[in-house]
Amino acid sequence: MMRRTWSFLLAILFAAPFAALAQTPAFHVLAFYSTKVEPDHVDFATGAIPFFQKMAEKDHFTFEATTDWTRMNAENLKKYELVMFLDDPPSAPAVRAAFEKYMDGGGGWLGFHISGYIDHRSEWPWFADFMGTLFHSNNWPPLPAKLKVDDPANPVVKGIPPSYMAPANEWYMWLPSPRDTPGIKVLLTLDPSNYPLGFKDTLTHGDVPVVWTNTKYRMIYANMGHGTKIFDSPVQNRLFENMVLWLGRKDRAAK
Ligand code: ZN
Repeated sequence: MMRRTWSFLLAILFAAPFAALAQTPAFHVLAFYSTKVEPDHVDFATGAIPFFQKMAEKDHFTFEATTDWTRMNAENLKKYELVMFLDDPPSAPAVRAAFEKYMDGGGGWLGFHISGYIDHRSEWPWFADFMGTLFHSNNWPPLPAKLKVDDPANPVVKGIPPSYMAPANEWYMWLPSPRDTPGIKVLLTLDPSNYPLGFKDTLTHGDVPVVWTNTKYRMIYANMGHGTKIFDSPVQNRLFENMVLWLGRKDRAAK
């Protein structure tokens, strides 16, 4: 009887720390999106939510999605290491101010496609500096495109081949190229072999980065995010996972 009790106690002593480790989320993610925007962008958000939910279960972080942008406030943001914008940038001044403060204070951001859209600096100067560029033009209709990795040593592109075919997307061109903005590090770029890209609207030449980080912040902008095909590529899905894990873990700089 005594032996059984000891075994039981020992089992609890050894199991408890591991159980606690398994149950403690590595970080917490809050994704913002809107439903009254371009339907193709809502489609992306609708696909992104279960995609990241599944990733959260696999990689042990928490993931919530909301259309309530008032949750972008200082008190609520304390609970999250990473916020995502799936299909919209914020427009309300209070929400923008809370986001600026969160990012200036070391918060994490992953923004997709239209959520990085700004075409005049005067609309939101802080965001223009944060993005490091302004929207210039796009291809139409959405098309697959070959992307090339700029910095193979970067942890965000770990396991990603030097180039891959990304699923159909509406690709944005930016001016100036974010590559020319101090502090911006480009991670993936549209391969020039895609040109001319588009039928109604065509990208014909030039440097078109599609994923980059502003090294002054814990952020990644990814141009993917139009329509229902974005999550069709296992390679690109791995890239998204790398992005989330890199941004979510605040200690990533030490790795
Ligand atoms: Zn779009």
